Amino acid sequence: MEDCLFCRIVRKEIPAHIVYEDDAALAFLDIHPHAKGHTVVIPKHHAADLAALPREAVGPLFEAVRAVAAKAVPALQADGLTIGVNQGAVSGQTVHHLHVHILPRFHGDGGGSIHSAVKAPSGEPLAEIAKILTIERS
Ligand code: AMP
Ligand code: ZN
Repeated sequence: MEDCLFCRIVRKEIPAHIVYEDDAALAFLDIHPHAKGHTVVIPKHHAADLAALPREAVGPLFEAVRAVAAKAVPALQADGLTIGVNQGAVSGQTVHHLHVHILPRFHGDGGGSIHSAVKAPSGEPLAEIAKILTIERS
């Protein structure tokens, strides 16, 4: 997409601190880091979210996530990572090109877990929810 910020980073029209690149994926430091080494990993193919990403691009994206995650912990002497995606404005997505945040975590950093993003269960029985969400494989 021509005006997409992250597509422009892919095309090197905008500078970024790139830490990983292959044919299908790119990882660079978040310009407003929430932790030391906060990195975003993106597919080079423009897609707003995971469902819109062609299946053949999904594996390479998560290979890149794995590579960045495997490097970050020892390189930063981190105690762990929070890995996540904001999908949709309701979730806080501001750049509508799929990106996986990798947030190095350190004991005492004051952050929460992914569970702290929302706490609004519906109260319906889980069996009913499972029925709605079950995917039949052909
Ligand atoms: P999200 O809220 O999940 O859409 O996250 C978008 C992220 O992109 C934010 O954490 C921004 O700080 C980051 N960001 C925006 N512009 C740039 C840029 N030019 N280079 C690197 N990261 C950026
Ligand atoms: Zn894009």
